[in-house]
Amino acid sequence: MKRVAVLGATGSIGTSTLDVVARHPERFQASVLAAHRNVEALAELCVRFRPELAVVADPACEPELRARLVAAGVRTRVLAGPDALIEAAAGDAADVVVAAIVGAAGLPSTLAAARAGKRLLLANKEAIVMAGPLLLAALAAGGGDLLPIDSEHNAIYQCLPQRRTGEGAAGVRRLLLTASGGPFRGWNAERLRTVTPELACAHPNWRMGRKISVDSATLMNKGLEVIEAHFLFGAAADAIDVVVHRQSIVHSLVEYLDGSVLAQLGQPDMRTAIAYGLAWPERIEAGVRPLDLVALARLDFEAADGETFRCLPLAYAALRAGGNAPAVLNAANEEAVAAFLEGRLDFPGIAAIIEETLQNVPHRGVDRLEALFDDDLTARRQAQRIIAARFS
Ligand code: NAD
Ligand code: MG
Repeated sequence: MKRVAVLGATGSIGTSTLDVVARHPERFQASVLAAHRNVEALAELCVRFRPELAVVADPACEPELRARLVAAGVRTRVLAGPDALIEAAAGDAADVVVAAIVGAAGLPSTLAAARAGKRLLLANKEAIVMAGPLLLAALAAGGGDLLPIDSEHNAIYQCLPQRRTGEGAAGVRRLLLTASGGPFRGWNAERLRTVTPELACAHPNWRMGRKISVDSATLMNKGLEVIEAHFLFGAAADAIDVVVHRQSIVHSLVEYLDGSVLAQLGQPDMRTAIAYGLAWPERIEAGVRPLDLVALARLDFEAADGETFRCLPLAYAALRAGGNAPAVLNAANEEAVAAFLEGRLDFPGIAAIIEETLQNVPHRGVDRLEALFDDDLTARRQAQRIIAARFS
């Protein structure tokens, strides 16, 4: 029996994870559930899954969670606050940690799980973008496995039979990440000014949290994934390409020196990647509809439009700059996306804020987590200042 900690249990990835877990009660037990402040949903999950530990990151929500569990007769231990997320990730209650918190808030718990040698199912791409070298060092120290849950990286992982996390695989020429192109594929800069949060969050193929939905619409999601692929698979920026594939059936590809190209295909359903990570090296039922190639009939591919969707080239530039640049990019993006969702910034403003923040925060190497969080904070303040100046 594998005991699974789901960090971000109330979110889109958390929900898909618990769906797979519930299909295999003889294999998996959801022993730890953690969320930000949606106490009602977290309490309901505790009633259903009876975990050993429940963590609510916002301490103000702790009394309500306790009250709800007492009322429901659930004897789950309750902890609260950011430090409790570390206990959730690294404590004895779980062997497998699903890192599915959104944003930089997930970094400390992701690092803690790696350091503790847990099997780490990584969905929280912002953590590896911010702190790739530190996460790889923590994994090496802990000795556990990292299984990528991001569908593209999960696909590449499946297409690279001989690889070790963080090291390049022999004989590979390039990694090809597929991108749906988001809801505004084919739009020009003029039209993008009319984008509202509601439009941006209505993704054509995937149902996801609001932040990653906006990232998909700006192509920053693909930019973050290029950086993620660099760290996970030891590939240089020049050896990672993006191709737009609107059906989201080919999840990504690996091109070898001999001309072979291996791809992983499937429905756009995150349960495939999650089940792969949970059961690896075995394969289990994930509740995913089989692929019907005849019904699909065709798969389309086209170049990504980095002229219009500036976030993609900005991410490549940050990867090439290295050091703290990916963390600054990520922090500025998180602030800009939040401002966009709150109606304080227009859609094209997201890339503009990130570009200006990258120019304003001094570049330096990354060797300590504290320094990284300093730069994360500096970047957020810079981004807020620029947002306020631009739209006052
Ligand atoms: P979501 O918004 O649906 O869920 C986010 C979860 O994180 C929620 O459970 C929330 O309670 C928790 N959370 C948010 N802030 C927190 C904080 N400060 N402390 C503790 N918990 C906090 O997001 P999602 O779509 O499930 O995405 C989660 C992560 O997975 C993101 O990093 C995203 O990029 C990545 N990812 C998601 C998908 C997808 O299909 N949804 C695919 C690939 C990667
Ligand atoms: Mg992805």
